[in-house]
Amino acid sequence: MFPTSIAGSLPKPAWLAETHKLWPQWKAQGDELRQAKADATLLWIKAQEDAGLDIVGDGEQSRQHFVHGFLEQVDGIDFEHKVKMGIRDNRYDAMVPQVVAPLKLKGRVHAFEAQLARAHTQRKLKFTLPGPMTIVDTVADRFYGDRVEMAFAFAELLNQEALALQADGVDIIQFDEPAFNVYMKEAADWGVKALERAAQGLTCTTAVHICYGYGIQANVDWKKTLGEEWRQYEQIFPALAASSIRQVSLECYHSHVPPHLMKLLEGKDVMVGVIDVASDEIETPEQVADTIGTALQFVAKHRLFPCTNCGLAPMDRDVAMKKLQALAQGAELARRRYG
Ligand code: ZN
Repeated sequence: MFPTSIAGSLPKPAWLAETHKLWPQWKAQGDELRQAKADATLLWIKAQEDAGLDIVGDGEQSRQHFVHGFLEQVDGIDFEHKVKMGIRDNRYDAMVPQVVAPLKLKGRVHAFEAQLARAHTQRKLKFTLPGPMTIVDTVADRFYGDRVEMAFAFAELLNQEALALQADGVDIIQFDEPAFNVYMKEAADWGVKALERAAQGLTCTTAVHICYGYGIQANVDWKKTLGEEWRQYEQIFPALAASSIRQVSLECYHSHVPPHLMKLLEGKDVMVGVIDVASDEIETPEQVADTIGTALQFVAKHRLFPCTNCGLAPMDRDVAMKKLQALAQGAELARRRYG
């Protein structure tokens, strides 16, 4: 009951990359960088196991950013000439690569870290990929001229990599779609369909993560404009409930999302965010168990998966470590309370 996992990313150690940044510079190159990525991946797998998490991941230690890590292995993208673009409906500016030609994978994207992780843990392994709509929102289009067409082009590439990850022994493939919470109507119109295209043919567990973003200042400021009740999920959950995706990861703790919106996901596994990634304050096991208790009013016991609200990439490493422990201890307390 209540299997625990994180949304995906974890802080990179200071010897691997710059800390506290969403687009950090690597600290090494070539073979040395490859070894450093491997070391950091193993370190975090061990840390997740030691904390007591049931489902572990690579902590996204081998990619600079959760979207651009995938794009680096795609032909048709000009990474040399990045341009400044407002992303997430102009919430903040990012330097993004440009799509300049038909999209095609150069080869495997995440084989190295997925196979490494698989070889070093007996626990269930979750692997994250960016979702098509979020990719489209994090790259400059100089070729397709149509967001939907480009999203489906990316979905095909994601599908190729996802099928290969499944063959590597990954148990859960999760697509990250924070853009769903920004373009709700488009998400319901075509975003979920593009997501299903990316997950086509997968027999492992499929998941989608939809959040209000990392704990960076631009997101903290944006959340202040969303009012007393955050009802974005209300517009997209019905489409997801009708989709073939099995698990949905959402924000809960410290958010203004009305918890009853989880009821719209009946029939799906719900990864409930019980850990706040926008605060360095460590949750107590009681707080985590209380959040699980709240979610239990709207989610069946066997469908509730305690999780973090979002990735922990920009946080302090020791804060992230303590939050992993709080997550596992809180879920354990909830098992005793509600079991
Ligand atoms: Zn997130």
